[in-house]
Amino acid sequence: MEISDIVSKQKEFFKTNQTKNIKFRRMYLEKLKEVIIKNENLLYEAIEKDFGKSRFDTFTTEISFIINDINYYLKNLKSLSKTKKVRTNLINQIGKSRIHLEPLGNILVIGAWNYPYQLSLSPVIAAIAAGNCCVVKPSEIAENTMKVMTKIINDNFPPEYLYAYEGGIDETTELLKLRFDKIFFTGSTKVGKIVYEAASKNLTPVTLELGGKSPAIVTKDANLEIAAKRIVWGKFLNAGQTCVAPDYLLVEESVQEQFLETLRKYIKEFDYKPESEHYTRIINVKNFDRLTHLINKDKIYFGGNFNREELYIEPTILTHINWEDEVMQEEIFGPILPVISFTNFNIIVNQLSDLEKPLAAYLFTSNAEEKEIFKNKLSFGGGCINEVIMHLGNENLPFGGVGNSGIGNYHGKFGFDTFSHQKAILEKVTWGEPKIKYPPYSEKKLGWIRKLLNF
Ligand code: NAD
Repeated sequence: MEISDIVSKQKEFFKTNQTKNIKFRRMYLEKLKEVIIKNENLLYEAIEKDFGKSRFDTFTTEISFIINDINYYLKNLKSLSKTKKVRTNLINQIGKSRIHLEPLGNILVIGAWNYPYQLSLSPVIAAIAAGNCCVVKPSEIAENTMKVMTKIINDNFPPEYLYAYEGGIDETTELLKLRFDKIFFTGSTKVGKIVYEAASKNLTPVTLELGGKSPAIVTKDANLEIAAKRIVWGKFLNAGQTCVAPDYLLVEESVQEQFLETLRKYIKEFDYKPESEHYTRIINVKNFDRLTHLINKDKIYFGGNFNREELYIEPTILTHINWEDEVMQEEIFGPILPVISFTNFNIIVNQLSDLEKPLAAYLFTSNAEEKEIFKNKLSFGGGCINEVIMHLGNENLPFGGVGNSGIGNYHGKFGFDTFSHQKAILEKVTWGEPKIKYPPYSEKKLGWIRKLLNF
């Protein structure tokens, strides 16, 4: 069947109203959970083939994340989809006001390759929890995970409800010509713009989960041990191929030397050697070449070794970095950590404010004033104080970018709302009509209305 036929069938199926039934949604969320658990080993094997991601990392950053999402919606489906009563103001008396959450209809989810399961399936889970039909297109760059996801979805779900579509740029371009009620895209800012433009032709709303250069700032008031430990973990997780990884480091000059030593200590301790099965590989030669080109030999503080055959790049720290260096021009998306030192916290925050708004930002300090400046002066999608990445792991927090790093958000309740329309309904009694609402109008009536509206 052609993809356009599948989308048409999903539109027809949505109109039957079956997906609006809570039992129906629950049944398919349970089903998805069941097939993921049943096929857990296939999922590990595929991602291992794609970029050497270990079973441990895949479980903690992908499978457990997805199962947790499903469990959240199973538990909260009823309360999330409940019609909400709101206050009815004076001019609308006597009446009742309600917000009905309505599924949008037919959703297109386009996934990225770096956390292939989570980034394709997490939006799907939110979309079907909210009562929609869905087409998901995983990234072709991680070919094996794309194939396994396509298989387990298409073998277990009716295509008129949920369908996984394999394809690269050409297929996605075709897909974007079709009409959806919402497009949820995860990927680069460059492709995000292509998706946004295509969506605008049909006035289709979008959620764009994009990237950017996310800074981590370490001041002299930070707990340097814990800052180094957490930054090393977050930067080299998935070999730096994480959208919210600290892209670069800003360290207060007076503690720079001690901090760099502590970073080195933890990189050694965490054992990212080529033979370590816990250190992920670079996804492909294209990205490998792009990354190794960014390693300026004169600026290596630690690491700098790589192996093209193995797609291995050692955790690398670059120092004496300027804002003009090539490594500071684009999102790195790999295990290279440039370090810039600063002497004045206010000046560095002002400098950051002039750059594109990143997906994340991190501050390590115990100084209350610095924390306030960070929260109030800098704009970024989301972030942490004295931690990296982990804000994603709390389903009570929205996850999304701002400005160049994205539009909209998801996770937990926010994911449910992302795929719902908030329909306002005012219901009035059929008696007690106020005369002042209707013509003929007079100065006296206007006077009453002004009084009523507190003018
Ligand atoms: P990408 O933009 O190259 O690809 C993402 C998706 O878009 C893929 O499914 C791909 O098939 C499709 N695509 C690529 N080119 C296209 C085109 N010309 N027309 C239509 N579709 C096209 O991104 P990527 O390399 O998979 O992921 C890396 C980027 O994604 C990084 O910038 C990273 O920060 C960002 N990212 C963001 C998040 C987030 O949650 N905000 C998560 C992961 C990755």
